[in-house]
Amino acid sequence: MKNSVDDTLEPLLRQIVPQLCELAAACNPGLAAALADLREAATTDHIGTALQEAFSKLSQSVKPGVLAPSNKPGPVPGNKNESPLNTREGQLIRSVLQHVLVPAPLEPLAQDIERALGRPTDETGRQKLAAQLIHLLVESKAHAQRRQAELQEFLKATVGRLVQLETALNEAHSLNRQAGAEALQTRQITEAQFLQLRSVSSETDDLDRLKSFIGERLDHLQDHLRQQDQAGDGHQRRLEDHLGQLSQQVAQLSAETITLRSRLDVTTEEALRDPLTGAYNRLAYDRRAALEVARWRSDGGNLSMIVCDIDHFKRINDTFGHTAGDKVLKEVVRLLQDQLRSSDFVARYGGEEFVVILNGAAEDAALQIAEKLRRTIKSAPFRSRGERVPVTISCGVATFNSEDTLETVFERTDAALYAAKAQGRDRCIHSGKKAA
Ligand code: GH3
Ligand code: MG
Ligand code: MG
Repeated sequence: MKNSVDDTLEPLLRQIVPQLCELAAACNPGLAAALADLREAATTDHIGTALQEAFSKLSQSVKPGVLAPSNKPGPVPGNKNESPLNTREGQLIRSVLQHVLVPAPLEPLAQDIERALGRPTDETGRQKLAAQLIHLLVESKAHAQRRQAELQEFLKATVGRLVQLETALNEAHSLNRQAGAEALQTRQITEAQFLQLRSVSSETDDLDRLKSFIGERLDHLQDHLRQQDQAGDGHQRRLEDHLGQLSQQVAQLSAETITLRSRLDVTTEEALRDPLTGAYNRLAYDRRAALEVARWRSDGGNLSMIVCDIDHFKRINDTFGHTAGDKVLKEVVRLLQDQLRSSDFVARYGGEEFVVILNGAAEDAALQIAEKLRRTIKSAPFRSRGERVPVTISCGVATFNSEDTLETVFERTDAALYAAKAQGRDRCIHSGKKAA
């Protein structure tokens, strides 16, 4: 069975690896052979293992000294010849990062890659970046597979316990039935003895004979009851043992079920959250947006969307450092969440871009809310090492019309954001209205 991570990651790997190979081969034709293996690996059924192998072969080839010289004219490694990645390469890699569900242990690597994208780099740097990205993709998939295997293992063990429990219950039930059957037998024997006694006592005049007959019957009954008691004690003990085991198994099973539930909850929640800011991530947005659109279609009413993007965030990183940039992201999330109602939804859509879904907000209300968000961020006292960090956002806003889909509204919102940036930033524009 495939999970949603596999479903997203595998086609992406198949699409992206050949493009990355092409990129790396263009940078250094000396790697063409090892890259051909890597490209080939992306077409095989067992893409994870094949990529790992091809990747380690490629890693061998790029060890210092073994690197074949590039025949292509172009920048020679060294500070003077460093240049940023071109837009297409950068966008390609950013879009890969946005689609990959990066597990927490690989977050630092993803952030390294993100950071490297903004820095000038030489050929060796580009090859390292491509290798890091492939490593990230392969490891993310392996992580998802391990999680799935763990869960399957646990479910298998739980099913095993349920089977044991059922067997124990059946045994306890049959012990109970046995004990019941023996009690019935005793009652029948006792009743028979009393019947005999009654008929003998009414038919005989011989007192001695009657006395000895009664004595025999009583002895017989007493023996039977003693045996019955012993057997009953044995049954009772076995029944108690069984019930004891049974209740232990039930307790264990329910403890394990609670653990499983909470692990599943954590896994699901983790998969929907952005580890840096704690905000919902793009996957959560995809799900929630689909739900909101479905609800809006069936119930009617108003539905609007805002996309907010921090202005000149790169400049904030460059001036105050990446850690200060991270702090700004966290604070922006907190402020946005503070300003929104619980029925609204906000997610970190990408690097410094956030998407808000406003339930029940028509055009004017949506634009007013966007304005409120913009003013809140602008007036918030962001600081880094005692210095004021000026932070503003631009917002694109759009409201659903009857013929809209999620995609058309997102495109309009994005276009409105683009217009807000083009008109000088720190402003909100509704796709169907003039600038606020
Ligand atoms: P604009 O006003 O046009 O939006 O300019 P900008 O600088 O905000 O936009 P640009 O897309 O050029 O740069 C976005 C920057 O955001 C580049 C990237 O390194 C940075 N970034 C993305 N994710 C993170 C993150 O998690 N932490 C930090 N500190 N920076 C990040
Ligand atoms: Mg920005
Ligand atoms: Mg942006």
